[in-house]
Parts: sequence; C-alpha cells; structure tokens
Amino acid sequence: MNEIHLAITDATKWYKKFKAVDKINLEVKKGEFLTILGPSGSGKTSLLKLIAGFEEVSAGSIYLNHQDITGKKPYERDIGMLFQNYALFPHMTIADNIAYPLRLRKVNKQEIRERVQKILDLVHLSEYGNRFPAQLSGGQQQRVALARAIVFNPPLLLLDEPLGALDKNLREKMQLEIKHIQEKIGITTISVTHDQEEALTMSDRVCVMNKGRIEQIATPQQLYQRPVNKFVAEFIGEINLLAGEVVGNEEGQLAIRLFADAGITLHSNHDGGFSEREAYVAIRPENIQLASDRGAFKNTMEAKVCETIYVGDACKVKTRTACGHEMTVKIPARLSGSCKAGDEILLGWNLSESTVIPYEREAILA
Ligand code: ADP
Ligand code: MG
Repeated sequence: MNEIHLAITDATKWYKKFKAVDKINLEVKKGEFLTILGPSGSGKTSLLKLIAGFEEVSAGSIYLNHQDITGKKPYERDIGMLFQNYALFPHMTIADNIAYPLRLRKVNKQEIRERVQKILDLVHLSEYGNRFPAQLSGGQQQRVALARAIVFNPPLLLLDEPLGALDKNLREKMQLEIKHIQEKIGITTISVTHDQEEALTMSDRVCVMNKGRIEQIATPQQLYQRPVNKFVAEFIGEINLLAGEVVGNEEGQLAIRLFADAGITLHSNHDGGFSEREAYVAIRPENIQLASDRGAFKNTMEAKVCETIYVGDACKVKTRTACGHEMTVKIPARLSGSCKAGDEILLGWNLSESTVIPYEREAILA
C-alpha cells in the first residue's frame, strides 16, 4: 500500500475574492482510506470538488495514477462519489439503480447482471434487487448508494459526509460497514467529515483542515496522542493545555515552568525535536489520575473539584488548580464516588501521558 495513487500539489481555489483552498499538498496511497476532517467552512467539500473535477483549481495540479488530471472533466476522471444527499432514483428498482452507471458506460447486459448481483452480495442486500428505494431503510438505501458509487470499479471513491443524515447508532454501524467494504475491495478512498469520531474510526490517516489549509496529516493514534498544534489538539477530543516557558529540554524530555504559577514546573516527554521557547503541556483528561501520593507521579498539581459529571462509562471531574487553571479529569465511572464538588484533590500524571505543543500568543486574549 505504498504506491502514491493521488497526488495534489499546491492546489488553491478562489471563489471570487475568497480563498477556500489554500495551497494544499496531499498524497494518498493506493488502497488507503484518508479522511479530511475539519470544522464547517474549512474547505473540505471544495477540496473534494477539485479532486472530482466539479470545480477547477485556481492554481496547482492533481495527479491520479501518475497522470495529470487537472484539466479533465468529471466524467473523464471516472471517480466514484457518495454524498450526504445521495439520491436513488425512486422509480427504479435497487438493481436498476446500481446498474445505472454501467448502462451509461455501455456495459453489456449479461455483465451488468453479474456485476450488480456481486455488488448486492458485497453490501449484504442480495435479496433486495427487485425492491424500490422507498421499501428500504435509511441504512439500506445508503448501502445501495455506495454500491452504485463503486459498481463501475472507479479508481477512487470520494465520500462527502455520507452518514450525516443518519442517527448515531446507525451512523456508527455504517462507518464500520463502509470501512469493511472499502478494505475488501481495496479502493482508494477520501472521505470528508466534521465528525472526529467518524474520522478516527474509519481512517488509515486523517488530514485535519482549517481555513483552507492542512494543520496535520497523521494516523488516528498520532493525531490523538501527538497533535502538532493547538487547533488539532482542541479539535479532536478534550484536552487540557497549560502554558509556560521551556526551562529544560534534554533527550526528548522537556521542563515547562507555568506562566500562571511560576512555582510549578511540569515535565513531559516529546518525541522529535522541539525548539520553541514557550509551550503548552497538553494532557488528555483520561490520562490524569486522582493521586493520593505525590511520589507516584512525575507531575502533580493541587486542585479543587468544581463539578462532577456522570457520563455513563466515565465520570468527568471539572477542577480548578490553585493558580486558576481549569483542568478536566476523566475517571472510570466506578470511581465516581471518590470525589465531589468542593473537595481538595491532587492531580497526577507521568511523563509519557502528556505531550508538548507550541504556545500561541493570541490565545491569551481569548
Ligand atoms: P466545508 O465543506 O469544510 O464546510 P466548503 O468547501 O463547502 O467547506 O466551503 C469553504 C468556504 O468556501 C466557505 O466559506 C464557503 O462559504 C465558501 N464557498 C464554498 N463554495 C462556494 C462557492 N461556490 N462560491 C463562493 N463561496 C463558496
Ligand atoms: Mg462540506
């Protein structure tokens, strides 16, 4: 899976005076599932349209299978697509819906029948070929739309928030289902979503976009555990950020003296070089423990419990440290009785449970 299948170089899209896509460089490997994740308006759909050919790039190039497709029309690119408002043809049977792209491409009848049946099996709808869309559930219709998008063996599959209209349970089920189908046929896939869980669940790699630019491209694990900047850290999951001055930096271990409380120096691991002089120590709520003993942790901070929130599988403890930092801790639900609002507690975590990201000065005004 190492061959580069899609390469985007310096792609930029202006809509009149507005730059929606800003010099994007991206390589997608053959068979890879890459998700573009970002807030609404960050340029995700615009980027997908550039790949599909529905919009022309203002600058830059797009290569598919080492061929420059930048100037090609959408039908010449022959890419499979599935959007949120996928429309099945209501007056056609499921089989005819799926056969449609094959008829357009003048595939012979016998082959159409075979390929439609094969793909119906793949999406677990073998028995449904003769039904009409209205006789299927939302999830089943979605699978038909997916089947129609891949039946003609496109080189690339593009998904734009395809599960946005489904409720949470069905959405989670469909995420895995699409992922399994994608793996089975090995089709290179680019999916767009603003839902971080969806991105982490489905992808080999995630590309985080913000204001038309890429903030980070990484595996789900890297993205969650080692975000490279404040935007990524805060966009994906919950995180506590403590700003300070770097006062020690040796062999992948940093010491950061907090701005808010110069008496406290925190220690954190960091893989790779870190040359900034100011930084945030970034710690996920589930990586902090309620400590009974300072000795067991490399980092400890005294805090007061403001609120405990029971969320089913866990308990969130909102705290405030002596120097005014709000810190959220996530503890297993079975420990939810161990503290209550007003309690003075000790927060503890070790070196590898935090990471370090560059400090962003503007943040102080917010
Ligand atoms: P996303 O899919 O991440 O929500 P879009 O790519 O749809 O973002 O839009 C990015 C920005 O470009 C938005 O500010 C949007 O208003 C603007 N935009 C998108 N399409 C057009 C268009 N056809 N004309 C002008 N502005 C557009
Ligand atoms: Mg969009």
